[in-house]
Amino acid sequence: MPLFADVLLPLSVSTPYRYAVPDALTTRVVAGTRVLVPVRRRKAVGVVRAIGSEPPATGTQREILAAPDAEPALSPALLRLGEWLSNYYGCPAGLSVRALLPGALWGGRAARVDGPPERSERTITLVHSLPSLLERERAFARSPRRRAAYEALEALGGTAPVRHLVAQLKLGPPVLAGLVRQGLARLDRVAAPRDPFSDLAVAPPPALTADQRRAMQEILESPVETPVLIEGVTGSGKTLVYLEVLRSVVAAGRGAILLVPEIALTPQTVARVRGVFGDDVAVLHSGLSDAERADAWRALRQGQKRVAVGARSAIFAPVQRLAVVVVDEEHESSYKQGTAPRYHARDVAVARGRIEGARVLFGSATPSLELLHQVGLGKVRRVELPRRVGDRPLPPVEVVDLRSASRVPEAGSVPWSEPLDRAVREALERKEQVILLLNRRGFASFVQCPTCGTVPGCPRCAISLTVHSTPSALRCHYCGHEESLSATCKSCGAATTRMRGLGTQQLEHFLALRFPAARIARMDLDTTSTKWSHHRILERVASGEVDVLLGTQMIAKGLDFPGVTVVGVVDADTALHLPDFRGAERTFQLVAQVAGRAGRGPAGGRVVVQTRSPDHHALRAAAAHSVAAFAAAELPLRTPPHPPYPPHVGLIRFVALGKTETAAAARATRVAEWLRRANVERLGGALTVLGPAACPIARLHGRWRAHVLVKSAETRVLGRVMRAWRAQGRGAGLIVVDRDPVSLL
Ligand SMILES: [Zn+2]
Ligand SMILES: [Zn+2]
Repeated sequence: MPLFADVLLPLSVSTPYRYAVPDALTTRVVAGTRVLVPVRRRKAVGVVRAIGSEPPATGTQREILAAPDAEPALSPALLRLGEWLSNYYGCPAGLSVRALLPGALWGGRAARVDGPPERSERTITLVHSLPSLLERERAFARSPRRRAAYEALEALGGTAPVRHLVAQLKLGPPVLAGLVRQGLARLDRVAAPRDPFSDLAVAPPPALTADQRRAMQEILESPVETPVLIEGVTGSGKTLVYLEVLRSVVAAGRGAILLVPEIALTPQTVARVRGVFGDDVAVLHSGLSDAERADAWRALRQGQKRVAVGARSAIFAPVQRLAVVVVDEEHESSYKQGTAPRYHARDVAVARGRIEGARVLFGSATPSLELLHQVGLGKVRRVELPRRVGDRPLPPVEVVDLRSASRVPEAGSVPWSEPLDRAVREALERKEQVILLLNRRGFASFVQCPTCGTVPGCPRCAISLTVHSTPSALRCHYCGHEESLSATCKSCGAATTRMRGLGTQQLEHFLALRFPAARIARMDLDTTSTKWSHHRILERVASGEVDVLLGTQMIAKGLDFPGVTVVGVVDADTALHLPDFRGAERTFQLVAQVAGRAGRGPAGGRVVVQTRSPDHHALRAAAAHSVAAFAAAELPLRTPPHPPYPPHVGLIRFVALGKTETAAAARATRVAEWLRRANVERLGGALTVLGPAACPIARLHGRWRAHVLVKSAETRVLGRVMRAWRAQGRGAGLIVVDRDPVSLL
């Protein structure tokens, strides 16, 4: 009897193509096998979803050309996970399956046998430092462009590939040559960057503290099917607990996955994991070449390595006999994938754990409200690590009220209070280090009363209204509500001020003038666009070459520098009043996390948070290092009589794109009409449809954006919306559907 295989191609298609299985391949071709098939006039790699005896309904019968692997690429469990992805996120089956295998395995005809050849590249390195502002002014008196190049290079850790500076930062080769002529820099030719983790020294892990031992016991004693949240304060040593759990699993001959946010995939993290598992671990990081990634994948698939460590996509690692999946820093928004399938690795971990009978562990000092809600419902068990290792105290947090605090007059538009100024100055005098957080570069401006701190919000959506200049108005970016821009505060009658986020460069400039002797490093998207550039900056901080590290949220994450005694949050309000219902949650997490960077050494530490909303529950809870206080205040605000939001309801976001503002708006309007009609006709009114409205980031990559939000307390109804949307197949490429979005900007 002839056999036929349904083959999924890594394309935006929902239905598999049916091919005949040649006799020679019948034993090898099963569900999950990678096969080479003809598609129109070319060949492509696909994955077999199922085998049957039905011939294709129409068209000519075509045969599978080859099946290159000795065993199926995808286990039955991973195939099921792919189906779950496709159903839950409303994504074509082809795109879901594409996410399950590394890119090199979809290589098709030109599959390379021996990895890429070794490359070399030119780098430029600073050889002469100009520590004081005065020297700098003298050296670059007549060439501001050369100065910009010098400072960019400095921010990149003193060395960078020439290619990056020219292509990304638009610095001309003559400018770089000028630096060399001036004796400030030197050009080299080096082998292209290697795996930075390949020759790490490994250290055996320290013994567990009593708290950590108890946490480990609680985890091992809880039922495998109940996920566990390890809620540990910053510096409590959660990682050691995971590693011990993983060690017990590997000793029993089973496998494990450890997910960490990409930015935390540092040499230190990897050294700790290698210290426990040696060569049993495969590290999947963005610095791997395609060939190296495919090698790591094969080693896991064949069971030669039993532990996979990596960022988001490592959740699909083909670990054999999977027993544990750990999601460290589960609140991190980088676990959400930005392209289809738009999955959240935290939720995929739960699905995979259920399919494979593996235990799922989450860790965070500032858990997401989604997870805390699950704890409240009894679906996730919580294990606490309430103390820092060595009983070091959590640093005291001083909240400085920018409405009344005296400011440093020279600071101009930079909010720089006397208390923060004093704290920084004293730390620098004691030769200690300082971290300054500036939440994010502002793009949307809001209105705030300088006297009482009130920010006008949307009456229907409870998010901050955004200022628009043409025509001059305040607008809600969820539902489109609009009101006139009033010059006075509705609460107290004082004159209001338009607030705009302050830039990190502006702050850096001010700091350089204020503390001319301090060595300052800046870390934001501009200075960390090359691979490993953030590691280089952090290495300089670790070795004491930097006195002040300033940056955006990326500096709040997982850094452990015992020399840091002062942490300052320059303007806590920018994140608080983002037009996003998670503004308060993000602010709490950010402030609590960055505060946790202070006082990890014997010198102790303190934190200064500047704000115009000192009574906001997010800041009060962060100052008290209290997750419980934050959740107790915030959860009720996301449920009626307030506008309901996750975790009480599920959310789907439809983003319509267009070449013009009108085209995007018209497309979004049609989506909203389709949803409202479906809601009335088929869903019994279980949906709330908000919008259409312009996205807070109204234009991205040259395209206009408008969105529609859908909320419902019934998961099943949202599932029906996703399936109906996928089935009607409209707007492919021009309408992005995102279930459980983490950003609404
Ligand atoms: Zn007021
Ligand atoms: Zn609204």
